[in-house]
Amino acid sequence: MENSQKARIKLIVSLVAIFLVGFIGYSLYSDSLENDFKNISTTEIERVGDPYTGYYHRPGCPKAKSIVKVVDFNKGATAEENNKQAKEEGFLPCKRCHPDD
Ligand SMILES: [Zn+2]
Repeated sequence: MENSQKARIKLIVSLVAIFLVGFIGYSLYSDSLENDFKNISTTEIERVGDPYTGYYHRPGCPKAKSIVKVVDFNKGATAEENNKQAKEEGFLPCKRCHPDD
């Protein structure tokens, strides 16, 4: 009886530990992700498209870093021209890096 109680306590303690580690890890990860999005550079005029998601991004967008097959929009002399070019090819502006702003 005593042994099974000890085993149950051990199980509960390890479950709580796993939960805590996961929670802390996740909050650190989402914080760094949030900072990443806040620090997106807005000086670049070129735009990068992701044909799988159908969105286009600023080159500094964290999502742009994970694009497998990048479509470059860099022919225009201004950001507006490159935005227009991306839209003409059917891409939508990213909701995180706001390439249109
Ligand atoms: Zn983006």
